[in-house]
Amino acid sequence: MGSVQIVTTILAAAITAVAVWLAVRAVMKMTAVIRLGQPAPERFADKGARTTKMLVETAGHTRMLKWSVVGAAHWFVMVGFIVLSLLVLEAYFEVVSPGGGLPVIGHWTVFGLATEWIGILGLVGIVVLMAIRLRNRPTRPGGLSRFTGSTMWQGYFVEWVVLLVLIFGFVIRGFKVATDHFEYPLWATPLSHAVGAALPDWSAGVSVAALIKIVISMTWLIVISLNVTMGVAWHRFLAFPNIFFKRDPAKPAGSGLGPLRPMTSEGKPLDFEEADPESDQFGVAQVEQFTWKGLLDFSTCTECGRCQSQCPAWNTGKPLSPKLLVLSLRDHAYAKAPYLLAGGGKDLAGEEKGTAEQLAGVDVLAMAEADRPLIGTAEEGGVIDPDVLWSCTTCGACVEQCPVDIEHVDHIVDMRRYQVLIESSFPSEAGVMLRNLENKGNPWGAPQNTREDWTKGLDFEVPRVGEVDDFEYLFWVGCAGAFEDRAKKTTRAVATLLNEAGVSFAILGEGETCTGDPARRIGNEFVFQMLAQQNVETLNEAFEGREKATRKIVATCPHCFNTLGNEYGQLGGEFEVVHHTQLLAHLVSAGKLTPVQPVDGGVTYHDPCYLGRHNRIFAAPREVLGDSMQGELTEMPRNSERSFCCGAGGARMWMEEKIGKRINVDRVEEAMSTGAKTIAVGCPFCSTMLNDGVNGKGAGEDVEVVDVASVLLRSVKPEAPAGEKETAPAAG
Ligand code: SF4
Ligand code: SF4
Repeated sequence: MGSVQIVTTILAAAITAVAVWLAVRAVMKMTAVIRLGQPAPERFADKGARTTKMLVETAGHTRMLKWSVVGAAHWFVMVGFIVLSLLVLEAYFEVVSPGGGLPVIGHWTVFGLATEWIGILGLVGIVVLMAIRLRNRPTRPGGLSRFTGSTMWQGYFVEWVVLLVLIFGFVIRGFKVATDHFEYPLWATPLSHAVGAALPDWSAGVSVAALIKIVISMTWLIVISLNVTMGVAWHRFLAFPNIFFKRDPAKPAGSGLGPLRPMTSEGKPLDFEEADPESDQFGVAQVEQFTWKGLLDFSTCTECGRCQSQCPAWNTGKPLSPKLLVLSLRDHAYAKAPYLLAGGGKDLAGEEKGTAEQLAGVDVLAMAEADRPLIGTAEEGGVIDPDVLWSCTTCGACVEQCPVDIEHVDHIVDMRRYQVLIESSFPSEAGVMLRNLENKGNPWGAPQNTREDWTKGLDFEVPRVGEVDDFEYLFWVGCAGAFEDRAKKTTRAVATLLNEAGVSFAILGEGETCTGDPARRIGNEFVFQMLAQQNVETLNEAFEGREKATRKIVATCPHCFNTLGNEYGQLGGEFEVVHHTQLLAHLVSAGKLTPVQPVDGGVTYHDPCYLGRHNRIFAAPREVLGDSMQGELTEMPRNSERSFCCGAGGARMWMEEKIGKRINVDRVEEAMSTGAKTIAVGCPFCSTMLNDGVNGKGAGEDVEVVDVASVLLRSVKPEAPAGEKETAPAAG
């Protein structure tokens, strides 16, 4: 070993020892913080499916590849990081000896070939990612950036480290070529040979370059160890467990979509017949009341901003960004952690649990952080502003887009639950809806005995459960379908089409009550459970003696469809639920309904969030419309998985929209930009919101918003009464 190698070896060992010590300390700290969360025992079920999903999502980059260029570039950088970590290890042999290399594999041409090309593609990948970050930098003129609010220096730092490590990998190899220490042939390692041709025959070059590579790598490790909230770096490790522990590994995407998590206390679902706010946790009032998976979610956020770029609230000037919400919760959790880890915290009555002795040594900043309310205005020092919390439509665009499977909607609803159930703090206008649900069983407060009024004037009898011996489908009409004028036309169209196709169906009539969706999304789990239990009882009676496969329900409202099919199972109600567009598509393809008159003027389709993203039903409504038009749909730029919310979900239908541009107006502008004369929908709430938007723009005479069922009815029965046209004066 020469004098240069003695120096390089000592320096490499010293910086590595410091970096490893700091990294171990950081991992212990992060583990301790994540373990502060509440239990989530269900996350340990289905380990086989979880492992498969984690491997598919990480190795295949299935979420990232939706953003094809970024996804491909990130894949090469990820593979480069994993494989080229071996080359960082190899550098430790190279600081000791210029001819050093990894034992065994370090002498294989295959290893040389693979690392050469992964290095080249990694270089291309990181340059592409750097260019994309620069092009989308928040300070660029014009347009919203997905990186607004991200800690930009951290992103630049990580990217430069990757770039320099890759470059120095080739410099080391180049010096090996120049000093005749390189074993791999030219055909396998062309770039290394090209670099070698440009470098001098300097015998110490290999060890010096290897030391620089180690110093860069260990500096990275030191920096991230001193910044445990640096998700842009830590996600390289945390993404694996976060994806493994996702809510539902069987789902193709967006594990936090569809059903909401039941409200839990100590890891057990709460039953409101027994729940007690003095001994059970009602929602989330403190950051440590999220489950440990919630805290892992916050720690894993890469700050990529994909969620933010798709969020309807953020895109229309509301203060909510799902990314910034996650970052605020993460920063708060880590800042408060020293207080919690010392034994501090509030019990359910709000009393301090830590003793004076336990808290004596806690940093003053951590104590101050612990005093911040989780939900509160800037003046109150709140972590999350109430306007942020109540701006969410629960559309799920954030969950759908997140490459590391963060479950934003669950976290938002958990915080809403505490605000509604314990603090009675929510937008006051929604109080009318909640009172109507409790007293009348529907959000409009309409008399229950008018639930069947929509059947009046139909030229056939609509049978009720109990009046007919047998029926194939229970037609779940829903509150909008029963009481809201425009939605009633959809209900009538569906009933007419089912009757026309010879489908045997029956309704519950006055036996039906709201599914509880708006109560659950606003956070009132008590009212949700009350309504849901009543409905589950009614439905179980209606289907008595039937197997699950024959307990079939058809619903026109995606919110009812989602709640009946995905959430009633949590309360003992197992049913086979289809959306009316699915049943209609089936009836058309089976030849039971025949569209005869093409709809003209062009049609575009707005995907309802709870049908599309939350339940992945994209094809059926398009098939029905395609058959009705006997041609192609005109798609909006944001469609299918990336559809833009109408603004009504998450009980926003019942709240005023006071901040920013109206979401429905944004969506209507996009729909009208297609030039289509018909905007087809598959949800009564979307219908109301988009109709309001069209009327607000004074385009009610030119553009019609209409349900898919009504479009089909006009094509199947062109002589159907003109009254089935759905466009109506602006909704009240
Ligand atoms: S669910 Fe929709 S509105 Fe809510 S934060 Fe996510 S993207 Fe935004
Ligand atoms: S998409 Fe996921 S990882 Fe990216 S900023 Fe949003 S929450 Fe973080």
